[in-house]
Amino acid sequence: MTDSFNASSNLVFAVDLGGTHLRAALVDHAGTIHKQIKRHTPRDESPDAVVHALACIANDWRGGDHGPIIGASVMVPGAVDSGQAVVLSAPNLPSLINFGLKAVLQERLGWPVVLENDANAAAIGEMWLGAARGCKDVVSVTLGTGVGGGVVLGGKLWRGAHGSAGEIGHTTVDPFSGLKCKCGNTGCLELFASATAIVRMARESLSEFPPAALSGDDLTAEKVYEAGRSGDELALTVFKRAGKYLGIGLANLMSFIDPEIIVISGGVVNGWDLFAADMYQEVSDRAFRATAQQVKIARAECGDNAGLLGAARLAFDEMA
Ligand SMILES: [Zn+2]
Repeated sequence: MTDSFNASSNLVFAVDLGGTHLRAALVDHAGTIHKQIKRHTPRDESPDAVVHALACIANDWRGGDHGPIIGASVMVPGAVDSGQAVVLSAPNLPSLINFGLKAVLQERLGWPVVLENDANAAAIGEMWLGAARGCKDVVSVTLGTGVGGGVVLGGKLWRGAHGSAGEIGHTTVDPFSGLKCKCGNTGCLELFASATAIVRMARESLSEFPPAALSGDDLTAEKVYEAGRSGDELALTVFKRAGKYLGIGLANLMSFIDPEIIVISGGVVNGWDLFAADMYQEVSDRAFRATAQQVKIARAECGDNAGLLGAARLAFDEMA
């Protein structure tokens, strides 16, 4: 493996193991994706089905007419231990909790395996090939089903002493809302700025905005966004509210870390035009003026692939 490491044809088997879908790709040194697949994540009580699914994809791709696969890099939707070997928490994929995924995958795949939190990998992906290119102090915030965060300081991931650094989604932005988060806290940012929160806030406000274009049935964040683009007052109010809470969270983050750039990703970012003004206003009102003026807040550029690319980059770095 070492002899061939610098060959530009070397590939990493990168995996984004989400609670709903698993995505896998073969990625080279330049970040080019050679193969890619998306499947439903097995939701069995045992982690064996997840391991089996990854092994099947790996076996399909092994020995193909591409460069050698030198390792695997797997992102999980949760915290991993300080040894980067065991999944400690994964609210959306509970079968993996306390499971030594790294060792099992190394055995089944026959490659060295890197294990990383998905938001951390996304931060690396955006720094490598996305909105944070050329930056060394980067925070990425992912607004998806939940709200994730990754922190890069001096060009290196900051995982924290116990593997849970960057959990901006579980910082408190409203202690008086009475809303309980699945993490156990109340008033977390995730309860106001995630796709789940967009839907909940819209549903809660339906009766205040008759007659509404939106109905309570099959409501999704995308539908709220589409209604907002059409000028629906309820949808616009929901996105403005999400923007305010996000701005509070980002102002806190700026005061604490003072990064060069904060990269915002995830499905909710599609509603940027509907929430950005309120987000910027809160940042301006709350963060130090000089900080607020200098920290760039940008939309992610790698889309769904930020995590896969970051995972690949982490593996290339580690295996060097
Ligand atoms: Zn929380």
